[in-house]
Amino acid sequence: MAHKDDVTRVLAACTACGSVYAARQWPDGEIRIIGQEGCSCGSTDFELVEESEGDSTGDAASE
Ligand SMILES: [Zn+2]
Repeated sequence: MAHKDDVTRVLAACTACGSVYAARQWPDGEIRIIGQEGCSCGSTDFELVEESEGDSTGDAASE
């Protein structure tokens, strides 16, 4: 379980407006959403969203 150098696919919610994005969590805990610099509302602060339905993105493409 010690994948210290691996990024993790997560869902992240904007802390300002609550919009949820597909994101990656870095080993240091930083969360960055995929494909955008930040939320459409202008915030760049996100919090991890616990997935309740498993991986529903179906995105198996490499990086
Ligand atoms: Zn937002």
